[in-house]
Amino acid sequence: MTRRQAIGVVGAITPWNYPFMMAIWKLAPALAAGNAVVIKPAPNTPITTIEVAKIALESGFPAGLINVVTGGAEVGEAICTHADVRMISFTGSTRTGQRIAELASPRVKRVTLELGGKAPFLVFADADIEAAARGAIPAAYMNTGQDCTAATRIYVQNEVFEAFLSRFTELTQTLKWGDPWAKDTDIGPLISETQRLKVHGFVEEARQQGVKVATGGVMPEGKGYFYPPTILVEASQSASCVQDEIFGPVVVVNRFSDEAEAIQLANDTPYGLAGSVWTLNVQRAMRVSAALECGTVWVNDHLPIASELPHGGFKQSGIGKDMSYYALEEYTIVKHVMFDITGDQKKPWHSVVFDG
Ligand code: NAD
Repeated sequence: MTRRQAIGVVGAITPWNYPFMMAIWKLAPALAAGNAVVIKPAPNTPITTIEVAKIALESGFPAGLINVVTGGAEVGEAICTHADVRMISFTGSTRTGQRIAELASPRVKRVTLELGGKAPFLVFADADIEAAARGAIPAAYMNTGQDCTAATRIYVQNEVFEAFLSRFTELTQTLKWGDPWAKDTDIGPLISETQRLKVHGFVEEARQQGVKVATGGVMPEGKGYFYPPTILVEASQSASCVQDEIFGPVVVVNRFSDEAEAIQLANDTPYGLAGSVWTLNVQRAMRVSAALECGTVWVNDHLPIASELPHGGFKQSGIGKDMSYYALEEYTIVKHVMFDITGDQKKPWHSVVFDG
């Protein structure tokens, strides 16, 4: 028979952008599969993970099943290299993921790496342009753009480029950014001043390269790490704003001429986490969704995630899957157990090998 067994102690390391959700994505399948977890949240967002562990303890989980250790890279490295930790489940940047893979290698530990993204959003001339422009708003700006699957590169077919860009810019300009507690706020602040300076740095660099800024791009004065939703237009494919993860409310809108070029541009980054295709032609949707090198493809939508569907990247966006049945596979190891039920140890060797 084959059995799926628990791995043992899983080290989980999570990022700051969705601290509660990332903790749950790791804890639920790891525990359901029978493992114990040592989880380290990001240093600037530890509270929800600590609260989840407290609630679990209060509701009867055995002590020691969920262990929260707070701290930064040094603590993360100690978890990754500890002899008793058999697996590392990591979500964060590609750079840290590369380091985690290195740390895991001496003991050949299992790793799942959910890393960065630079999702393309392809608008074909046969799409519903109003739906695409509306869909691009949450896709680009949800969580102030601090989302690994955010639409950061919008490629629009030449015939509808102006129509899409003007409608998307108009909708972007209606968004209200500011106090996250105010009921009419659409976009809250970034996580920190460091992140805000990084985001603005990308915009400034693009400006120096002659990229047009259709809206936003100005560092607001006053308190808070706010940044306005920003649209950069027609940046070169090799520009850092097209190739690198910005992790803020900044999106590039570029052109393409035909389907082959759209696919080529969409696949032309080191990342491969997610992407979307906007078209009313179902055959095109099937072709393009197959050709995109990424773990999730939406058709006429962008962002929704369901717990029964796997989430994980291609290329430098990672290894392995969070959520769904596939996550249970990540947190278990397969064993093959063979019984001799005949009790006959004198049978010829070939009958053991070939006849079972
Ligand atoms: P990060 O890589 O800086 O940090 C992530 C976690 O790793 C933190 O807990 C951090 O303390 C820890 N860490 C840092 N250095 C370490 C080391 N040397 N050894 C062990 N642990 C270490 O990422 P971040 O800035 O917190 O989060 C943003 C990144 O996360 C973005 O790149 C985003 O795309 C990615 N992300 C990916 C997914 C996904 O599902 N693929 C989901 C959310 C976020």
